[in-house]
Amino acid sequence: MSRRNIFRGAVVLGTAATVGGFTVSTASAAVPNPGIASCATWGARAASGLSQIATDANKIVIHHTATANQTDVSQAAAYRLARSIQSYHMDSNGWADTGQHFTVSRGGYAMEGRHYSLSHLTSGNGMVVGAHCPGQNSQGIGIENEGTYTSATPPDALWAKLVDVCAYICQQYGIAPSKIYGHRDYVATSCPGDKLYSMLPSLRTAVADKLNGGTTPTFQVVIDNGSAGFTASANWAVSSYSAQRYGSNYHYANPEAVSDGAYYRATLPATGDYKVETWYPADAGYNATAPFVVFASGGNKTVTVNQQGNGGKWVDLGTHAFGSGARDIVAVSRWSSGAGYVIADAVRVTRV
Ligand SMILES: [Zn+2]
Repeated sequence: MSRRNIFRGAVVLGTAATVGGFTVSTASAAVPNPGIASCATWGARAASGLSQIATDANKIVIHHTATANQTDVSQAAAYRLARSIQSYHMDSNGWADTGQHFTVSRGGYAMEGRHYSLSHLTSGNGMVVGAHCPGQNSQGIGIENEGTYTSATPPDALWAKLVDVCAYICQQYGIAPSKIYGHRDYVATSCPGDKLYSMLPSLRTAVADKLNGGTTPTFQVVIDNGSAGFTASANWAVSSYSAQRYGSNYHYANPEAVSDGAYYRATLPATGDYKVETWYPADAGYNATAPFVVFASGGNKTVTVNQQGNGGKWVDLGTHAFGSGARDIVAVSRWSSGAGYVIADAVRVTRV
């Protein structure tokens, strides 16, 4: 299963149906290709010596072209810009091709930059190594936005297309909207300009909304103990003893009066209410008062779970309010008065 499909199945949900009392979500291609003009369409020169790699991009890096904020917002002007950038990068910089993967004009035209950027994006597999940000060229998709945004605000047409392009890239590669960065996050540069850089939080939110199909998103994510969103100290051991486990294994630890929780983190698309559930294997020897600390926006709430029963299914921890973005959702605490292991297996978060 590709990362793209995992993302579509687990995070970007288009529709949901209730089956057997559980919300079952089906994948959908929520964001269409935003009409990115290929190199052939805008008349690129041939390029050679490009490096294509099998690994997927894991972030987006935003740039501005630092060219004039021109008033010609036509398609012809956009294509002229793309040809001009390519010539500058090849003839003055001595590069093999356009440095960035994609370009968005002030008139809202999206264009392929470096050859092969578009075919990799539409397939959602691999990428062409760019030349837009040292250290990130084989990891980050570079987008050049036409203009200089040190103080000027990008035109609405550019902004809207940038949101569409970023959402499509996030969808195709399974990149979280929180992984949209500015050039200056990696290199000492004024790029993408103070103004555009200050708008990146808004861009991440707009992209997340787009990925969720609008203002009333259906969102659900499962964080297993093997997921990137899970963290626990080395005091937590891993077991696959119980067949009631979610996924291949689960974490467990002895109860002790210490702050040494197992944390579940997720990126939420919007501020609002979310149902939080946990899945754990039950055993008579496990903890009857395992504390689950929910990091709700109104303050932490502790929900006690009897892990001697109700194993092998989703157990409700209540509906809680959260802010948007990447955040800790819940932690399994070791600070229990009960005997027996406390178990940290999977957590599911659903927008309600
Ligand atoms: Zn830049």
